[in-house]
Amino acid sequence: MTDSTIHNALRSIPAMDELLNTPWALAFSGRLGRETVKKIIAEALDGLKRDICAGAQFNMPVDGLAAFRAENLLRARASSTLKPVINATGVVVHTNLGRSPLAKEALRAVHEIAGVYSTLEYAPEKGGRDGRNAHVEWSVCQMTGAEAALVVNNNAAAVLLALSATAAGREVIVSCGELVEIGGSFRIPEIISFSGAKMTAIGCTNVTRIRDYRNAITENTAVLLKVHPSNYRIDGFVKPVPREELAELAASRALVFMEDLGSGLLCQPGVSFANREHQVRDCLKSGAGVVTFSGDKLLGGPQIGVIAGSKHLIDTMKRHQLLRALRVDKMTLAAFEATLRMYLSGRQGEIPVIRMIEADKKTLLKKARALCRMLKDAAARVNAVALVISVVETCDAVGGGAYPTDKLPGYGVAVRAASGSAEGLALGLRTAPIPVIPGLRDGCVILHVRALLPGDEQSIAAAFTAALSAMGR
Ligand SMILES: *Cc1c(COP(=O)(O)O)cnc(C)c1O
Repeated sequence: MTDSTIHNALRSIPAMDELLNTPWALAFSGRLGRETVKKIIAEALDGLKRDICAGAQFNMPVDGLAAFRAENLLRARASSTLKPVINATGVVVHTNLGRSPLAKEALRAVHEIAGVYSTLEYAPEKGGRDGRNAHVEWSVCQMTGAEAALVVNNNAAAVLLALSATAAGREVIVSCGELVEIGGSFRIPEIISFSGAKMTAIGCTNVTRIRDYRNAITENTAVLLKVHPSNYRIDGFVKPVPREELAELAASRALVFMEDLGSGLLCQPGVSFANREHQVRDCLKSGAGVVTFSGDKLLGGPQIGVIAGSKHLIDTMKRHQLLRALRVDKMTLAAFEATLRMYLSGRQGEIPVIRMIEADKKTLLKKARALCRMLKDAAARVNAVALVISVVETCDAVGGGAYPTDKLPGYGVAVRAASGSAEGLALGLRTAPIPVIPGLRDGCVILHVRALLPGDEQSIAAAFTAALSAMGR
């Protein structure tokens, strides 16, 4: 592009006042205010100017493009970017999609507390202050057998606080096979270092023996740390040290035995593959002094980190300055308290995550068949006859770093586009007004039914129709 074409293109960008007086800009001014609308239009025009100067080619005239981009940016800025999506991936605890959808009872509790004053840190009978932790401590202790418990922002915060309070300036011994990274930003060696403790890594990736722990203990050792490897498994010749042996060694040398469990389970789900490795109660019974776990993984509650264990250890954490920076807010506490109550009363089967993990194949097949019929009807309505839509078996997953190699057998609906563009259809589904996030397999879009919530099928059909129409254009 020559300097003069660039110059001409820049000159055809409409004036701000002209754009501000278009019907769509006036409509947005009513919602966002004129000054904000002006800023957003200016942002869109700046972007266009940069593209023109960089020599970009456009498939519409510059004045029309300016209006088109300004209107689109206004629409994007006026709507929430944090919005509902439909999880058709078959991964139940999907971290990028917000992990656990809350139970209705937990939602009601948040709704009741969020907009009013509350007893967050106030005991009416005392007429004074009480700790916010008190709302959930008793229930956590009941469900885990712990003497005491403390909640913080998430499990990463729980590990950080627990180590800071028990091992700052001293040594933490951990097996090389457990130096895991979880979700990109949580790495055990770095969390230990943040806590002010010094890490002593022992053993090999696949084998660590009790004598490795014993030999590494010095007079400066404070904690023997066990970390659930969560998102990976080593098969073959693998030997972790049993909890009981670690607990015994820690006790004999007056050390703290701490376990970061990651996904904590308060009850045993009925699914056949579920072993007991995630049971918080078992960890404590085997002698762990402190156990840390997430509230929004297998537990199915809000994002929260739980520290459960011996009273004297939890007490030092309750007094630690760091707690102030990691404490949970009232909405989280309300949701967690309600979720715990469901466990206490034996109604954990109504918690969405538990219900989805325990869903039997017959129920899933029925759901998949119903969805398949709806999608076939939708395809027929838009004349998309060249699609193959069928019920298929799927491999679903618990997610959230629990049981990474155990697959949950499930069902879904596979859609094969005749033109072969599964990616195109998937993009159309993901960019629908209520985005649908599908799986992809063998050139097919797969809509797994396991993690669908009531009513999702209608939204999937609507997104499907919109995506097919867009592809047909
Ligand atoms: C998930 C996980 C964490 C981090 O928990 P968040 O709730 O994401 O903060 C820490 N440790 C283990 C073993 C985990 O699985």
